Amino acid sequence: PRKFFVGGNFKMNGSQASIKTIVDGLNDAKLDGSNEVVIAPPALYLISVAKAVNAPVEVAAQNAYIKQSGAFTGEISPEQIKDAGVPWVILGHSERRSLFHDSDSAVAEKVKLAIETGLKVIACIGETLEEREKGITSQVNQRQLEAIAAAIPESAWKDIVIAYEPVWAIGTGKVATVEQAQEVHADLRKWLAGRVSPAVAEATRIIYGGSVTAKNSPELAKAEDIDGFLVGGASLKPEFVDIARTKA
Ligand code: 13P
Repeated sequence: PRKFFVGGNFKMNGSQASIKTIVDGLNDAKLDGSNEVVIAPPALYLISVAKAVNAPVEVAAQNAYIKQSGAFTGEISPEQIKDAGVPWVILGHSERRSLFHDSDSAVAEKVKLAIETGLKVIACIGETLEEREKGITSQVNQRQLEAIAAAIPESAWKDIVIAYEPVWAIGTGKVATVEQAQEVHADLRKWLAGRVSPAVAEATRIIYGGSVTAKNSPELAKAEDIDGFLVGGASLKPEFVDIARTKA
C-alpha cells in the first residue's frame, strides 16, 4: 500500500504573517501521520517554516539549481536546501517549465543532483490543453518522465513522488475528472513497470495536481492510482487541513 501524500505548493504567495497562520493551523490540526504532508513555501521562508512546523508535516523547496555552488545569481542549490533542514524539493513544475524555460533535460539534471544530495523529490509532469486536444497526452507525460528515468538509477525512485499536473487544470478551477486523472495515472504506472520495474511502479506515489479543493479531493482520492495531491491555491486556505486529512 502506498502512503497517501498531500503537498501544498504556495508558489510565490504569502508573507511572514500569512505563512505563520498556515503553519499554526497545521500544527493545531495535530495530523495523525496517516498521510504524508509536505508544504512548499517560497525559498525565503523555508528555514523559518522548517523550524516552526511540527511532525508529521515536512517542508519542500519549490525549485533547485543543477550546481551546488558558484556564480549563479538568484539560484539555490540542493546542498543549501539540505543544509536548511528541508528534506524535499519540487522540480519540473509546469510554471518552471513554461515561464522559466526548464527543459525536460534540465529537469532531469535537477532531479539527479537533488537525489544525489539526499533530497526527496516531487517531480512534476503534465500536458497542456493543446497537447490533450491533439491526443498526445500519454506521449507528453511519458516523454517528460523518460528524461527523468534516464538520469537516475532504479534505487532513486524510493525518494521520488510523481506529480501529474495537467497544465489546463492548474489555477483554472477546471479540475480533471476522476476518470481523466485515473486514466493518466494508470498509464504512467504501467509505463513505469515496463521502463523501470514492476516493484517501482507498485511503490511509487503518483499524485494529482490542478484545482484540487477540499470539495473535490475525497472523490479523486478514491481512484486506485491517485496516491495524493499537489495543491496550489487551496494550500493557502484553512481547507488545506481538510485536504491533508483525506482518507485514501
Ligand atoms: P492549483 O491547485 O492552484 O490549481 O495549482 C496546482 C499546482 O500547480 C500545484 O503545484
